Amino acid sequence: MNLANGRHYLAIPGPSVTPDRVLRAMHKPAPNIYGGPLLDTVASIVEDLKAVARTRHSATIYISNGHGMWEAALANTVRAGDKVLSLVTGHFGEGWSKVAQAVGLQVEVLNSDLSSTFDLAKIAEVLSADKSHEIKALLTTHVDTSSSVKNDLYAVRKILDDLGHPALLMADCIASMGCDRFEMDDWGIDVALASSQKGLMVPPGLAFLFFNEKAAEARAKLGTISPYWDWVPRATPQAFYQYFDGTAPTHHLFGLREALDMLVLEEGVENAWARHETLARAVWAAFDAWSQGGESWMMIDDLKKRSHAVTAARLDGPNGTALRDYLTEQLGVTLGIGLGMAPSGTPEWHSYFRVGHMGHVNAHMVLGTLGAIETGLCALNIEHTAGGLSAAAAVCAGVQDRAAFSASGSAASNAESCCSDPAEARMQRS
Ligand SMILES: *Cc1c(COP(=O)(O)O)cnc(C)c1O
Repeated sequence: MNLANGRHYLAIPGPSVTPDRVLRAMHKPAPNIYGGPLLDTVASIVEDLKAVARTRHSATIYISNGHGMWEAALANTVRAGDKVLSLVTGHFGEGWSKVAQAVGLQVEVLNSDLSSTFDLAKIAEVLSADKSHEIKALLTTHVDTSSSVKNDLYAVRKILDDLGHPALLMADCIASMGCDRFEMDDWGIDVALASSQKGLMVPPGLAFLFFNEKAAEARAKLGTISPYWDWVPRATPQAFYQYFDGTAPTHHLFGLREALDMLVLEEGVENAWARHETLARAVWAAFDAWSQGGESWMMIDDLKKRSHAVTAARLDGPNGTALRDYLTEQLGVTLGIGLGMAPSGTPEWHSYFRVGHMGHVNAHMVLGTLGAIETGLCALNIEHTAGGLSAAAAVCAGVQDRAAFSASGSAASNAESCCSDPAEARMQRS
């Protein structure tokens, strides 16, 4: 028997699910790029992107993935030989540091453990020792998609302000934008990075840089830079082609316009954050239930430090890979691989996996994924406590207290039905 036929579901942390509406919006003949409606569409997209990033300042669009924004952010703010401080909490922070090194910056790296947030005391120590303000910028990651940790960017801003340190605060929000609360202006973020294929629900291929006045001043001091990365003509184009330094990414723009209709105009950014939070809590409730009585399977213990867009987890032995394979082959759901938690090729690598719950996700998609995981745990005989799915259902139902939920109806007996004797479970229900 195989239960994988039907619509396959990709539950990885990017690319996320592209809404059918977005796909349909992209299915059009090529438009004129020298006049006509596309010009107004792009102007409206820029405004709505700012609404997502919560900024009154500048938004620019690149034909790029997220990696390109690491380079673009640096190209516009610092020059080779300058010093930057890179705060690393996982694979993606490491990636940005490597780019900074490769473009000739002096990079001081502050590494945290794989399942911790920034070390704020250490950051304060390094910055207060930097009396001559050699450090020109801080490179930070809001959500590091590898461990699913969420960093407190405002706490970093406060450290800079308390010390009167002028370094730019730059934030990689590629995993978090549209999913986790992010307030560019209120948190004093000078440069923010995002890309299309995660919370913004558009296929990979577009990426975004947001910058404020202070970052614009840093850019002005650099003089001429690589024209493709230069954000000045993109933010203040004299001709339409300058938005993109060449041909506009026409069909991605159609898709993005539709996605922003959904996110900004229809649902509202704050409601989208709330949806992500509830769905994330549902995922955590399931993991808590499954791992009850033992060590948590989730990489991040503190609820406040967990992303609402992705959950990274670890099972004993090679069970992470076994579970992923089973779900893909037998149940039609693909989970994310572990990233940066153990070197690939080692036995430990096979312990890790991730669940993406970012962008165009609703309760049935998340509950379906969790149901598939619970099915895999049963089928593969992976030791766990039953009841994860009903714990998640209780969160979606707004019944946070599981005990109350169990007492109120049949959910408790259903919870046992997966791995206990099916005949007994049937009797309990009848
Ligand atoms: C996905 C991701 C990236 C990389 O984006 P690409 O589009 O794959 O280049 C960078 N940083 C974070 C936090 C991400 O989640």
